Amino acid sequence: MTDNNSKGRAERPSFLNTQGSYPEVKAILFDMDGVLFDSMPNHAEAWVQAMKANGLKMTHRDAYMHEGRTGEGTIDIFARAQWGRASTEEERQYIYKVKSEIFNTLPYVLPMDGAREVLQAVKAMGLMRVVVTGSAQRSLLERLDHNFPGIFSAGLMVTAFDVTNGKPHPEPYLTGLQKAGISAKEAIVVENAPLGVEAAKAAGIFTVAVNTGPLPDSVLADAGADIVLPNHHALLEALPSLVARP
Ligand code: CA
Repeated sequence: MTDNNSKGRAERPSFLNTQGSYPEVKAILFDMDGVLFDSMPNHAEAWVQAMKANGLKMTHRDAYMHEGRTGEGTIDIFARAQWGRASTEEERQYIYKVKSEIFNTLPYVLPMDGAREVLQAVKAMGLMRVVVTGSAQRSLLERLDHNFPGIFSAGLMVTAFDVTNGKPHPEPYLTGLQKAGISAKEAIVVENAPLGVEAAKAAGIFTVAVNTGPLPDSVLADAGADIVLPNHHALLEALPSLVARP
């Protein structure tokens, strides 16, 4: 790999090395579930079933509203609300294990429509591609490489293993900036979930929400998204102006 994404720190491509007064975007930070992969319907279904099996009521809409939070964090919120007490670590781990097992029985998850084209365009523009996810899959890079060859690198990924605090805390996105060696002004985040938008905005980053799920656009705008787009095709069209934004 010879492009700048293979290096730990940002190296500005020469064609972007102008003396303009605008802050220049050097990286796009992508959330994974619901942005790169069309995985949220399966996650929501697995959550609803796993919670029900353990005496907790959760709707599909609830799953989308809590998207981005760590699994154990989500379980504890529902336990406190419905059991009137905090969950134990054992309960959290068990319910999350059930959720993961159900998820793995559901149909294979495909890349989000238009995601490949967006990633290829971002690469062609000489920008770094960073993944910022709450996922705790050990083989994430292999899966990303399989679906999006040549786009991502191990040094530019933030997963559940890299942070203490999950979204909506800014830590995942701040860690993404740190790994890319850039400031908040030099990045754009692409998110699909309200808590993910909150996390990105709390990290001070311009945030594009792509509304790939069932929630109304207003939920993403209210979470602080700078712009809400309907899909990746709209994002592909908007990319040049987003990167050149004043
Ligand atoms: Ca997401």
